[in-house]
Amino acid sequence: MENILTEGLEALGIPAEREAVETLAAYGRLLADANRVTNLTAITDPADMARLHFLDSAALLTVADFSGKRVADVGTGAGFPGVPLRVLQSDIRLTVMDSVGKKVDFVEASCRRLGIENVNCIWGRAEELPQLREGFDIVVSRAVAELDVLAELCLPMVGRDGLFIAMKGPDCQAEADEADFAIRTLGGRLREIRPYTIPGTDVTHAALVVEKTASTPIRYPRRYAQIKKNPLRGV
Ligand code: SAH
Repeated sequence: MENILTEGLEALGIPAEREAVETLAAYGRLLADANRVTNLTAITDPADMARLHFLDSAALLTVADFSGKRVADVGTGAGFPGVPLRVLQSDIRLTVMDSVGKKVDFVEASCRRLGIENVNCIWGRAEELPQLREGFDIVVSRAVAELDVLAELCLPMVGRDGLFIAMKGPDCQAEADEADFAIRTLGGRLREIRPYTIPGTDVTHAALVVEKTASTPIRYPRRYAQIKKNPLRGV
């Protein structure tokens, strides 16, 4: 796994320090071990894990400047993309959250074990954490919900002039168009859709970058049942 990570990071133009690469590989081993008893990820082969979890997450560092930022990862699951971002960019202050306790427990225990500091782990639903409102410079999320729903979970947490970055498949233009009303209603503006190919694969993903240009109206986020039933859509 170390070689794939080192080469992949170099291909992305991200400095691949040995200690960081070893930490990521160790995190991957903890994940594979834990996954034998608890279902945390469908990806278990070390090479696949290196590419589809770690390098995919790392690619976000080519999309925005994360240095010194307060970063939140909404629906982090087993820690993606948040944990690799924090390991590779050590001055990030990271908050990860997930509605499933055993996933948050895994991330918290693994970070403690590997000495990955400044990671705040929260068990909770993103739309039910008002204490996090406008508390971050960058909010990231991968594979959690459709963009119009996801925007309502994530944009309220982004501070003014901050970014919300959603990781999507390559053909996300239609999803972005559908979410345009939601994004604008929540105080955002779609800045760009940045496609990237995961090194060592022919998998292309896209980072959808939304800027926070105004405060989110206080009535958002709504309760999840409401968000799901009535995503913010124009007429
Ligand atoms: N981001 C990870 C996990 C994706 S699976 C990855 O890409 O590998 C989606 C995760 O989002 C699940 O772990 C689920 O528990 C979590 N989730 C879904 N809705 C959520 C919400 N409203 N608040 C917090 N977590 C949520």
